[in-house]
Amino acid sequence: MNTNMRIDWQCIDHVFLDMDGTLLDLHFDNYFWQQVLPQEYARMNGLTLESAVASLNPKFEAKQGQLDWYCVDYWSRELNIDVMNLKYGNAQKIALRPGVFELLDDIKNRAAEPALLTNAHRSVVNLKFDKTGLGRAIDKIHCSHDYGFPKEAPAFWGRFAGIVRFDPERTLFIDDNEAVLEAADQYGIKWLRSISEPDSQQPRSSRSRFLEIDQFPEIFS
Ligand SMILES: [Mg+2]
Repeated sequence: MNTNMRIDWQCIDHVFLDMDGTLLDLHFDNYFWQQVLPQEYARMNGLTLESAVASLNPKFEAKQGQLDWYCVDYWSRELNIDVMNLKYGNAQKIALRPGVFELLDDIKNRAAEPALLTNAHRSVVNLKFDKTGLGRAIDKIHCSHDYGFPKEAPAFWGRFAGIVRFDPERTLFIDDNEAVLEAADQYGIKWLRSISEPDSQQPRSSRSRFLEIDQFPEIFS
């Protein structure tokens, strides 16, 4: 990891960008998993909201950091709820973080290539691209589901690098998830940045050991 405050853009070819909490406001996801889904689960199973949450929490905890956690098909089966349909019904909360289109233009203007690198399921990427127009500004999309591991698994990076060509020494990776950044650091990605406020409606639970971006233009100054 290079901890320099200033990114030397002469030394960057690839910029991998996380989606939820980095390009998009994590508020939608927190709202969906903490409120919408428990309410639906309670309604479907004739439970109070409290007992629905008590029943869901161990199921969520058991899958945290695994590919299933990010898989809408898994949760639809496991909970007997059409998770995608429920997301579509609440999609009005999907929102870009400030300055995303400018960020993508600025990266391209520095002769680097931006690409999405997400743990999200491709159907969720499609929904979020539809709602935000992000698909117009970013052509390369990498979903960890295609590589068999989530980004926080050390094994992901070897698999990913075996298929997608990039030089870790000349790559910037921005992600709001600490475990993901740790795995990228272990693999040898030189330029790593976190996000200071992934969810616009609540403070970060703990500070990152990586430099946090407050406003995207900071990475060009
Ligand atoms: Mg994220």
